[in-house]
Amino acid sequence: MLSRDLSYLDEEKICPHCQKPMSCCEAPAIHVGDGLGWGSDVLFICLNDNCSLFLNGWEQIENQYGHHASYRYMELPGSKEGNCMMVGNSDAFKGSIIDKNDLLAQNTRYKKEKEAEEYLKSDGEEKKLEHILTLLLDEAASRSSRLLALAKLNEIKDLTCIDPLRNHTFRDADFENKVNLAIVAMLKRNYKKECPNCSEIIKAQAKNCMFCKIKF
Ligand SMILES: [Zn+2]
Ligand SMILES: [Zn+2]
Repeated sequence: MLSRDLSYLDEEKICPHCQKPMSCCEAPAIHVGDGLGWGSDVLFICLNDNCSLFLNGWEQIENQYGHHASYRYMELPGSKEGNCMMVGNSDAFKGSIIDKNDLLAQNTRYKKEKEAEEYLKSDGEEKKLEHILTLLLDEAASRSSRLLALAKLNEIKDLTCIDPLRNHTFRDADFENKVNLAIVAMLKRNYKKECPNCSEIIKAQAKNCMFCKIKF
């Protein structure tokens, strides 16, 4: 599977109690009622504080169960079946509203990671460097796919990949160290080195730098 199913992002749901659009929220890990999962990563919930179901719920639950809580109207994606979620306060679920744009961006990133990983595993040559850089520069990519990219860096002769790697801030110091070692090895294989003064790539045997003119 190359991407998660995000079809629910196109879904617009209206609360039958207040006619206001419902919010798409992350589903709690556990179904409070019976201990089972919802079978969905997201739930559509009416978070309108003026919704009649929510406003009337306080009194209803107080009378029926004697505790302080109310209801929010809920539907699962792709379903018209209405459910009531018990909530203890008006803020419940408001912290788990899904930012659709954020999720789409994440999904695009994830797709690119998986494509790059598949490509490198299949030993493709044409866009190898592009895919290696995608993974090495993606801090959110899995460690295993980034290590795969790092291993493939040993097969690259094109030194243009050094600049983007040098300019990237790696969050993981150990990984950064591995990348630096791979760069040095790559330069060596190509009889090149980086000038210790200006960092430009020069011949390994050079006695002075053709860019900054410093002598070694
Ligand atoms: Zn409502
Ligand atoms: Zn120099």
